[in-house]
Amino acid sequence: MTNQDKKSIPLKNPDLLSACIHCGLCLPACPTYLATGRETESPRGRIQLINLWQQGELGPDERLSEHINSCLGCMGCQTACPSGVQYEKILFETKTQLAKQQNPTVRKLLRYIFRNVLPNYSKLRQIGKLLRLWQSIQLDKLTSKSILAQSFLKNIAKWQEFLPEIKKYQPLPKLSWQAGEKNQQVEFFGGCVMDIFYNHVNHASIRLLTKQKHIVRVPPQTCCGALAAHAGEVDIATDLAKRNIEFFEQNGANNPIIVTSAGCGAMLKSYGELLSHDTEWHERAENFSKRIFDISEYLKKFPFTCTPKVLNIKVAYHAACHLAHVQKILNDPIDLLKPIAGLTLIELKEAEHCCGSAGIFNLTHDELSSQVLARKINYIAETKADYVVTTNPGCMLQIKAGIDKQGLNTQVVHLAEILDEAYNDDEGQKPS
Ligand code: SF4
Ligand code: SF4
Repeated sequence: MTNQDKKSIPLKNPDLLSACIHCGLCLPACPTYLATGRETESPRGRIQLINLWQQGELGPDERLSEHINSCLGCMGCQTACPSGVQYEKILFETKTQLAKQQNPTVRKLLRYIFRNVLPNYSKLRQIGKLLRLWQSIQLDKLTSKSILAQSFLKNIAKWQEFLPEIKKYQPLPKLSWQAGEKNQQVEFFGGCVMDIFYNHVNHASIRLLTKQKHIVRVPPQTCCGALAAHAGEVDIATDLAKRNIEFFEQNGANNPIIVTSAGCGAMLKSYGELLSHDTEWHERAENFSKRIFDISEYLKKFPFTCTPKVLNIKVAYHAACHLAHVQKILNDPIDLLKPIAGLTLIELKEAEHCCGSAGIFNLTHDELSSQVLARKINYIAETKADYVVTTNPGCMLQIKAGIDKQGLNTQVVHLAEILDEAYNDDEGQKPS
């Protein structure tokens, strides 16, 4: 440990750490603890390590970084904690400090992706096209047989396990509505990963919103910054936040902003906190965050005026961490599914436990991520459901990869896909 390391501290406010009374009630809620059985991979253990760093007894070395970076950031512990430990704040500040210790080449590459790739939607669509081409010529089969598969392409082949079938990209309509009485104008946030991999979910969501008589506008927008923030690259996340605030302030609009990705929604709702020390932006960020609604949260507020179709299917609901633990939206998705006749909801054990996706965790910590996923897939197998319903693209990618690996006959869908099937007939206006 260098003198510089000794002087560095993870948290500006050490009281965040003293709130932990070491009771351990968070341990059964922690997927990395359940997978490894190690205290250092538990919330209590991580808090203790951060505490030792704060006291100057440990430096931010590689081992400490690994224990912190092996945290999924799922916030299951925060929900479980009876002492109100603000684990999200602790993790966010600690990761910001740890990012500075990272290998400079890896960090440079990640920063480039966060700043120049994810926010650039036309570049992302090009990447989506390339991936579709990759899938159509079944290069995966070639790579798995070739000698090259032993090296570089082997890694790519492993990563592509997580790719869904990428469909032809259909741009989102700038403005959508149905004929007749109008309800409210809303703005729509499509997300980067969601819109490239699950573009059809965004279209389904827009159809549902117009079915509830809203006028839906899709303004210019950029990446929410969640992946940058979770990697501790706060400056990039802050820049992206400011750009989105500006985009959604255009036209002087103060309309609700609807989000289909739980991860993006959680990030957009945190802009007020992210910019809390910026006197010029804080109020604007707070106003912006108050306008954010997850699609389930918003659809629940308004009744559908038609009877849903009968869907004879068995459904299990997986609660995305950033919906359940961060946004605290627990019942809305289930309440929306209940009125659909024929649909049987089957309880999924540990439905609110993380699936191991957590942004790019499944790529950076593939072994631990697979262990966490295996537990989830075993419980899904027990349900024998036709569909696993969730609300986050990362969960959809991860759970689908686990289901394919285990050969289950279950499909993973977004809540909006089921609701679209139930509520939208062919006469409804499809986005133009
Ligand atoms: S984080 Fe909360 S639940 Fe976990 S050990 Fe500390 S006080 Fe107990
Ligand atoms: S955020 Fe999730 S993975 Fe990290 S300590 Fe808490 S429960 Fe465990």
